[in-house]
Amino acid sequence: MTSAEATAHYFKKAARIMDVGERIETLLAAPLREVKVQVSIELDNGEIRTFNGYRVQHDNARGPMKGGLRYHPLVDADETLSLASLMTWKTAVVNLPYGGAKGGICVDPTGLSSKELERLTRKFVDQIQDIIGPTRDIPAPDVNTNPQVMAWIMDQYSKYHGHSPAVVTGKPIDLYGSRGREAATGRGLLYIAREIARDVGLPVKGTRFAIQGFGNVGSHAARLIHEDGGIIVAVNDVNGGVKNPKGLDVPALFDHARKTGSVKGFNGGSPCGTEELLTCDCDVLIPAAMGGVLTKSVAAEVRAKIVLEGANAPCTPEADEVFEKRGVLVVPDILANAGGVTVSYFEWVQNLQHVTWDEDRVTTELEKLMREAYERVANISRTRKLPLRTSAYVLAIGRVGKATVLRGI
Ligand code: GLU
Repeated sequence: MTSAEATAHYFKKAARIMDVGERIETLLAAPLREVKVQVSIELDNGEIRTFNGYRVQHDNARGPMKGGLRYHPLVDADETLSLASLMTWKTAVVNLPYGGAKGGICVDPTGLSSKELERLTRKFVDQIQDIIGPTRDIPAPDVNTNPQVMAWIMDQYSKYHGHSPAVVTGKPIDLYGSRGREAATGRGLLYIAREIARDVGLPVKGTRFAIQGFGNVGSHAARLIHEDGGIIVAVNDVNGGVKNPKGLDVPALFDHARKTGSVKGFNGGSPCGTEELLTCDCDVLIPAAMGGVLTKSVAAEVRAKIVLEGANAPCTPEADEVFEKRGVLVVPDILANAGGVTVSYFEWVQNLQHVTWDEDRVTTELEKLMREAYERVANISRTRKLPLRTSAYVLAIGRVGKATVLRGI
């Protein structure tokens, strides 16, 4: 099953349960626009290289489309479409006034210099500047993109359209970014973990978490969960991992990662491979790296009771079924990792209103929206006896469907 087929599978499953009808189902399934561009740049050595860039705009019934940009060798049209539709459902689950989009460039950014990355980003903006904008489609960070990349996007877009901070979110604090945006996805995961804790009687304090990925999502989740009394028993990143059944010393792990660029080799535990991490003895597993890591066979071996999807689409639909059969509670990406886009929304609001919120306001509002979303999804799950993922889709499809019908087909 391709990524787009996997998302379509979840969508269809929920749409059929809701009985939305073939007309609405057809309307909601198809993306609005799929753009592919060739981004050619001059490398520092004078060579010309061409990269494929994508922006897929899935649905705009509830507002301007929103979603990140990823720079990764596996970016392609299919994955971008799948991630764009996830954004439509994610923004609807949290009730943000947005639709969904996603984009990216098929590139390994670790092989490029900062100047080359800047040229690539600006060239890409040149090619999509007429389809993005503060009231059309607002990009943001995703895998391997960061506040600096967002700053280049804002600057390049503004050359065409005048000063436009609200065209992109996840910008540096010193250039119209929002306080709390960097940690937002990890913080949202903590808030959802707290809600789950209340429901299943497993308080964060003393609960054992394994986190796959130590990037923007995993590292902040590890720090905040640790501060909340959770025990981090394993973490990894692209270079390697570390485990300690008694709990890792998280501040010392951060020091090590800062110095060496990786959690690998941290002496407060023993080495830990990816599969070992995913199947280690823990209560909550947070896959917070790439999609598709939890396959059917890995899912059968997972020992966690709860899977909190920090990444987008970390479970394949086959794995999802295994978890359902085994009674493992899966908190879906479109709910669990929605903290990032929620604070992106706060950033956009601040930019449009020319105001700055303090961090307390950001975290208070984030907690409120995440809790409301969780309560709604959990309520559908309880009353209709559905898994959380299907329940989240039911909530989202209901909202997007209603907006679509009200606007007129
Ligand atoms: N890339 C993030 C996501 O998948 C954030 C998107 C945004 O902030 O617009 O949710």
